[in-house]
Amino acid sequence: MTDSFVAPPQTDRPVRARLAPSPTGALHLGNARSFLLAWLSARQQGGEVYLRIEDIDSPRVKPESVRQTIEDLRWLGLDWDQSDLQRDEEPTLQSGRMPRFLEVLEELIQAGRLYVCRCSRKDVAEAASAPHDTALPALEGDVYPGTCRDACLKPELLEKYAWRWKFADAKMHWTDRLRGLQQANPARQLGDYVIAKFQNGVLVPAYQLAVVVDDYDQGITEVVRGDDLISSTYRQLAILKHLNWAPPNYIHVPLVIGPDSRRLAKRHGDTRLAFFREAGIRAESIVGYLAHSIGLIDQRADVTAQELVGELDWEKVSTEPTVFEFEREYPGLN
Ligand code: GLU
Repeated sequence: MTDSFVAPPQTDRPVRARLAPSPTGALHLGNARSFLLAWLSARQQGGEVYLRIEDIDSPRVKPESVRQTIEDLRWLGLDWDQSDLQRDEEPTLQSGRMPRFLEVLEELIQAGRLYVCRCSRKDVAEAASAPHDTALPALEGDVYPGTCRDACLKPELLEKYAWRWKFADAKMHWTDRLRGLQQANPARQLGDYVIAKFQNGVLVPAYQLAVVVDDYDQGITEVVRGDDLISSTYRQLAILKHLNWAPPNYIHVPLVIGPDSRRLAKRHGDTRLAFFREAGIRAESIVGYLAHSIGLIDQRADVTAQELVGELDWEKVSTEPTVFEFEREYPGLN
């Protein structure tokens, strides 16, 4: 097995970061924490920050959530700049970029990097329940076993299918700014993944493709996001490497979890920023809580995002998740 070498990210470009919310629900404390870190890191390097609304997963996107997301970010005190892709001050909507994603998809198809797959979710789950290689455990969920990989299916004969990325059977490595060296064999530990889906007569690019194209076209040099997306980085790097596009620096930050060690959810109370705002809590209190949880300030205090510029030191940021306990932080509020 040979190492597939992934070029180190370029660091000589002007710093550009992005806030890339999926408007599938209101922002909660966990999203806010990742966005605050992304924004602080860019701003204290004198970099630009773009807002990109990742709204291509249409069945789950609620138009009202786009407005809510923008309001939440403004309330937190995060601002953003106009990127080259924008015509006016509106944020970039990923849904407006379909022709560009499809152009890159076509290039990948022509290059033979993808194959047609007609497996349903159920097919994948059933096939993936077979025993796995214990030396190379799955990085997340079901590993697609490659059922359609050599089937040479023709898309024009199918009503419903997906294009999957064909991973090379090789180890890949990259460096996360916070977590250091990451390595895995994505072919065995993640499996080939869906890069676009053909459904109801339209071809819809998946997040993995859209994010790579947008990050590249916007000249993004730094991607700060939740560590639930670490495995996606292998998928995105594979595309970048094929296209010979310089990867950004990746920094995956820990999530906020509940006292039961599970990802923050409704059962832990209402942690939407809108809830705190409507309950009369000031943004400075939330930013203060987040800053304290990250270790940017020693004592819990009210603080603005702007006041924290210069205080972020990645060497001191923990890789452990933060436990949010409502009663401890905001007694009697929920
Ligand atoms: N839109 C994604 C999310 O909200 C984030 C994607 C990214 O930062 O790459 O989970």
